[in-house]
Amino acid sequence: MSATFLTESSINTILMTTSIHRPKWQLNNDPACQFKWTWSTLFLNFGTTSSCHRCKHWKLTVENFMDFHNLPGKIGDREKMVKGQWPGNGCEYCKVVEDAGGISERIGYINDLEMVPPENEIDPTETHVTPRLLEVYFSNLCNMSCTYCSAKFSSVIQHENQKFGEFTKNGLEIYEWPDNPEYEVMRDMFWDWMDLHGQELFTLHVLGGEPLFQPEFEMFLDWFDKNPCPNLEWVIFSNLKHNTIRLVSQVERIKELIAKGKLKGFQVNVSIDNFGKEAEYARHGIIWDQFVDNFTFLAQEKWIGMQVQSTICPITVQSMWQLYDFILNFEDPRINLSWNTIQDPKWFNPSRFGTYCLDGIDKLIERLNQSPFSQHHNIPYLLGIRNQISKARCDSYEMIRFKTHLDELDVRRGLKWRQLYPDLSEHIEKNITTDDIIFQELKIMGAPTGDQEVKNAT
Ligand code: SF4
Repeated sequence: MSATFLTESSINTILMTTSIHRPKWQLNNDPACQFKWTWSTLFLNFGTTSSCHRCKHWKLTVENFMDFHNLPGKIGDREKMVKGQWPGNGCEYCKVVEDAGGISERIGYINDLEMVPPENEIDPTETHVTPRLLEVYFSNLCNMSCTYCSAKFSSVIQHENQKFGEFTKNGLEIYEWPDNPEYEVMRDMFWDWMDLHGQELFTLHVLGGEPLFQPEFEMFLDWFDKNPCPNLEWVIFSNLKHNTIRLVSQVERIKELIAKGKLKGFQVNVSIDNFGKEAEYARHGIIWDQFVDNFTFLAQEKWIGMQVQSTICPITVQSMWQLYDFILNFEDPRINLSWNTIQDPKWFNPSRFGTYCLDGIDKLIERLNQSPFSQHHNIPYLLGIRNQISKARCDSYEMIRFKTHLDELDVRRGLKWRQLYPDLSEHIEKNITTDDIIFQELKIMGAPTGDQEVKNAT
């Protein structure tokens, strides 16, 4: 993910939209970070855990699982922060932004985020604490196979890779992802942990896979029914590929939980990038008309928090403005908007394609500017991405990997990306010369060629 500077929308992802008045963060010596104390991400699919989602993954075992928020590595990072030191282990992400004069997540949230662990309400320097914000990835069970996703997060892609076998060509590797052998045990331990600490949480993020498609979603509904959490705001990240009738009944159950004071709020962060046929290609498996029905249903339920998250890359950016035209037509300032660019896999990063993506970003900015609601603009953030892309040069190596990837997916999925994206196909072919192909072959063979950056230097 590449979101370097915070936007109002990204803050709302964490805080949701409700106003909260809880104890403030008291440990004011830099670079202490409230997230390091209060946030845990659990990757049950990998058997790892991190502090905020930027940070190093620490290995989970059956022995250490029940204290996943206080593994020695996490405590060590907090101790360094108490002493006024940056801990490394991923926090470089914030340090680099701050060194460049930007507002990092650490700084951006520190005053507004009222999620102080209970232990720090008594002693601000205590390093063994209980999280208030939990983010959990269960298995990779998903009902879609987005073009830029991998078997790590999609069981559909995992099955596709099993069916077609490993693929290696032009520096591209597609391979199976090993499941966490302790998944079932850790999932059971997760519910044990929830029984002990779930009611102390303020925010719960559930990611996937696809949360609405996973059995854990129904398990949560039953768990909240038995274990009321009147302070908890539940956020799920969904592709909205669902039978609409089933979605309506699931939402009804959540509405009932909130009405009974068993849950404070509910937010859906909708992952969608672009419009119509191009959306059906990029987010393979989605049914566009069904998506429209489901989004419309959620938008009409005004008590649900909503955020749209879009990934900018060459196969999404050209029709992205049409998606936002659809969303902005709801004229609903409650719907927050956010964007990111892809860092991994590198060959989907828009800056690898020279200035190809500028046109799509400009159309998007033009449409956003027409919204009467300032929270829909986020123009400075998009201008930051635009600025980066405006200086970009075509990276032949990554463009070759990109077209190799899409060609292979076409074989596997019976698609024809070049027909859907003729301009992109032409742009790539025009910007790869015979020299580049020879260079690319040498690079794959391991022959000394110098770095691509050196080759591009002027
Ligand atoms: S990466 Fe930033 S926000 Fe995350 S724990 Fe480190 S300093 Fe805090």
